[in-house]
Amino acid sequence: MAEPLTAQNLCEHNWQYNKLARATASVRVCVTCHTIDGEDLMRTLNEYAQEQRLAANATGAVIEIIERDRTTDDTPAGSIITPDEVRINGQRLLAPADEPITIHEISVTSGDLVCVTLTLFARRVIIAAEDDLS
Ligand SMILES: [Zn+2]
Repeated sequence: MAEPLTAQNLCEHNWQYNKLARATASVRVCVTCHTIDGEDLMRTLNEYAQEQRLAANATGAVIEIIERDRTTDDTPAGSIITPDEVRINGQRLLAPADEPITIHEISVTSGDLVCVTLTLFARRVIIAAEDDLS
């Protein structure tokens, strides 16, 4: 018995990427017959799950206090730096130039955690119950 021809069987598929809500990954869907690419969907779901895992786990910040556009060398003047940029997790941030950045004291024998205190300019400060935000 022959399978009835459907739009899906006949379609030459015009793939387009659609993004899931709040996801950075997207899924490939045919705009003509709405077929979803199965492999692409699985890849997208895996990426989405990975994002959710990352969002669920708070981690220590990667803090870079750097002098832009510089490389040090072995001369006295060339071996020291004057930091002029702060990055947290790779994001450049605006900080008041006259506010100190404190890298807290570390004792290798007492298992101290690495802590940094700095002052940043804020674009927006939100203090709220999380579920009130949506
Ligand atoms: Zn199609």
